[in-house]
Amino acid sequence: MNVIAIMNHMGAFFKEEPIRELHRALEAINFKLVYPNDREDLLKLIENNARLCGVIFDWDKYSLDLCKEINKLNEHLPIYAFANTHSSLDVSLSDLRMQVRFFEYTLGAAEDIANKIKQSTDEYVNTILPPLTRALFNYVREGKYTFCTPGHMGGTAFQKSPVGSLFYDFYGANTMKSDISISVSELGSLLDHSGPHKEAEEYIARVFNAERSYMVTNGTSTANKIVGMYSAPAGSTILIDRNCHKSLTHLMMMSDVTPIYFRPTRNAYGILGGIPQSEFQHETIAKRVKATPNASWPTHAVITNSTYDGLLYNTDYIKKTLDVKSIHFDSAWVPYTNFHPIYTGKSGMSGDRVEGKVIYETQSTHKLLAAFSQASMIHVKGDVNQETFNEAYMMHTTTSPHYGIVASTETAAAMMRGNAGKRLIGESIERALRFRKEIKRLNAESEGWFYDVWQPEHIAGAECWPLRSDSAWHGFKDIDNDHMYLDPIKVTILTPGMDKNGQMSDFGIPASLVAKYLDQQGIVVEKTGPYNLLFLFSIGIDKTKALSLLRALTDFKRAFDLNLRVKNILPSLWREAPDFYKDMRIQELAANIHQLIQRHNLPDLMYRAFENLPAMVLTPYHAFQKELHGEVEEVYLEEMVGRVSANMILPYPPGVPLIMPGEMITDETLPVLEFLQLLCEIGSHYPGFETDIHGAYRQEDGRYTVKVLKE
Ligand SMILES: *Cc1c(COP(=O)(O)O)cnc(C)c1O
Repeated sequence: MNVIAIMNHMGAFFKEEPIRELHRALEAINFKLVYPNDREDLLKLIENNARLCGVIFDWDKYSLDLCKEINKLNEHLPIYAFANTHSSLDVSLSDLRMQVRFFEYTLGAAEDIANKIKQSTDEYVNTILPPLTRALFNYVREGKYTFCTPGHMGGTAFQKSPVGSLFYDFYGANTMKSDISISVSELGSLLDHSGPHKEAEEYIARVFNAERSYMVTNGTSTANKIVGMYSAPAGSTILIDRNCHKSLTHLMMMSDVTPIYFRPTRNAYGILGGIPQSEFQHETIAKRVKATPNASWPTHAVITNSTYDGLLYNTDYIKKTLDVKSIHFDSAWVPYTNFHPIYTGKSGMSGDRVEGKVIYETQSTHKLLAAFSQASMIHVKGDVNQETFNEAYMMHTTTSPHYGIVASTETAAAMMRGNAGKRLIGESIERALRFRKEIKRLNAESEGWFYDVWQPEHIAGAECWPLRSDSAWHGFKDIDNDHMYLDPIKVTILTPGMDKNGQMSDFGIPASLVAKYLDQQGIVVEKTGPYNLLFLFSIGIDKTKALSLLRALTDFKRAFDLNLRVKNILPSLWREAPDFYKDMRIQELAANIHQLIQRHNLPDLMYRAFENLPAMVLTPYHAFQKELHGEVEEVYLEEMVGRVSANMILPYPPGVPLIMPGEMITDETLPVLEFLQLLCEIGSHYPGFETDIHGAYRQEDGRYTVKVLKE
């Protein structure tokens, strides 16, 4: 942080010369000076250069208005105003709260002023650094010598070996030096919530509008287990989103609870819908409790908010309606909802506490904010027993947390604080909107086929678009009004092949082909459905990345329309089976897979596969215990009808469990099996298109086996 902007003071010698002196004095203490042309230029400079650490300007010329504008961009940025001894200093107290310092135009004072600027810069750095990260940086700077773990000792051990040195040089000195043991007492403790770690949690809670927040170093997979372990004691019944993340299935395998599933809808595109309002209502739950063996009134509920495809709930309704002691919103996908008004009322921490209920929100900080992988948070609103909760927390937390992950979790919060955070999220939304409009424009102008976007017919500014019962674009049947909203930054691109009612057309381009092409261009798609692709416009997506994506999509169209050989358009696919793809052209490959999907009516099958749940014979916990006791055997996929599945079976996509441990496919739920078989069949016909199915094992002969309980 050493760049300072100086607004031009040209015009009067008595102003120019002191500034020239100051320039030299600042350079002498390693500052870099830049000279914006005018006010616009300066504001753009601040917006685009996060390393700028100060602005110097002439008070006679710019005064308060400029300060206010700078403040909107970064309320902590130091501002230095030079005033003529005669200029009026009509600043009020609240103005002084802005980071303005005044100096006079005098010769011979440059060094003194430069030192004060240096001081203010240090204070600025201290202000924007959150507590734990600041303490960690200071600790590393002091260069203390320890005799504790980790064994690489600030990187020294690596440098004693050739391969270790390669590793050291790749990651750099500070990565090593900041990877320290929990015995460093001045940093406090993550597990005991003390010292700078405690300050970090309090800081995060303030930023995320929580009463209490926890940093979790092993992803939301672990955060979810911590919350569930505390909230659902053995023997209790829980309500849980059927479209839950696998970590929650794992929770149910660890903890002896009886699940009752919320049943979400699903549209023809294969997009996961949300849970209808009726599922949250007392009568529905009462019926389910009655119909479920060993179930009692649920204590705890888990809802995925947002869904994978970016649908957010009206959380106020859910918090008010659900008659349980605690509600957990698994918001792994949306750690940013507190930082833009379009998300108000659509997140766990939004609004006040709800009397008599505890609200949890878990977020994968690493997924859409800036933090290292595994960085996650638990936010709490409501009364929990801190000691007991912490027991569950510690049960799932390593006693050797990686401080880099912890500090990055805290830094992600610091980045979101105040005006700067709002601006970052606002920009992501704007970028996503521009991208959506661009696809729509190209779609309208395009000859022949083009991609489409899953969104309302007309979009204008930033908002979360409601799914309404009287609009058709979303493709959901019987949708509740004021219940679900599409997040603009989750962009689902549609390829031709199917309309919103699930009607398949003769011509189609399965999305997996486009995904493979993009992958070759270095663009990784978040999720690929039969005819849709999901892209996330997180704050790391800048204009160049958005343009590259657009470019790659149109390049694919061009190559497709030219009907190039698979070998040329998808060389990596071709390499997987050169003989098979030898002379094949892209249109033929697309048509063949499309026909296979059409023949089996995949969209309809997918819809039916998720419509009726397989029968629960044992709870996930008891099924897994059987597996641990060796009471399982492996059978071919098609032989699993009438048998109890030992594991969860989860095809990707759609990335949510299809069969839970302890469940059985019966005649009523045959579509579940047919859906799995179709996924396997596509893979067996077309090398490179194998579906990844958690819980099913591909054998040498290409068939899949699964584990079932012995009879
Ligand atoms: C990714 C995800 C998780 C797990 O988060 P990690 O940080 O990867 O462990 C949990 N729930 C949902 C809904 C997710 O999408």
